[in-house]
Amino acid sequence: MAPLDRLRRFIAEFTTLTTLHGNDEPAMLERGAALLGALVAHDDWLPEEATRPDPVYYRQYLLHCDPLERYSVVSFVWGPGQRTPVHDHCTWGLVGVLRGAERCRRFVCAAPGQPLAPGDAYELLPGAVDRLSPAEGDIHEVSNALADRVSISIHVYGANIGAVSRHVYDPLTGEEKPFVSGYSSAQVPNLWDRSAEVRAALAG
Ligand code: FE
Repeated sequence: MAPLDRLRRFIAEFTTLTTLHGNDEPAMLERGAALLGALVAHDDWLPEEATRPDPVYYRQYLLHCDPLERYSVVSFVWGPGQRTPVHDHCTWGLVGVLRGAERCRRFVCAAPGQPLAPGDAYELLPGAVDRLSPAEGDIHEVSNALADRVSISIHVYGANIGAVSRHVYDPLTGEEKPFVSGYSSAQVPNLWDRSAEVRAALAG
């Protein structure tokens, strides 16, 4: 199997899921988590360009955005000690760990402008999938759980997440600020050069 076959198959299945259940968030989270779990069960497919850490900031490499912007798939690359600010998403999300380990902590906003209540931190190991729903509260911070190496997770969101206007928070005061994450790379992987397998079939 060529390295990008897993990702291409995942995108085909996720597109079908979105077409069938895109307006049903619980179904997207339930069925989408199963698809993402199958993708991150193997660490042999992520293109090297989407694994490179930055010395200072975590990286967000877009792997695919649905043409109708119904969902997007992003490779998050965490250097040692790197973390997100406390933030929300304004759409559902799935987080699957591919390599290393991630530490997550949820926060609850009881009232606008009030300090956020932190939940317990928890760790995700390779193969684990976490779910985020704005309806249930999706404010969190995420960090590399490993102090000495890179961690990588694959995230799926119910929108073109890099272009969503959302929020970062100061958990001590509850102050929120607008936040648009963007992406770390101008290119996405080329999933569509399948010439090698077609030529092999011809030769066979
Ligand atoms: Fe997040």
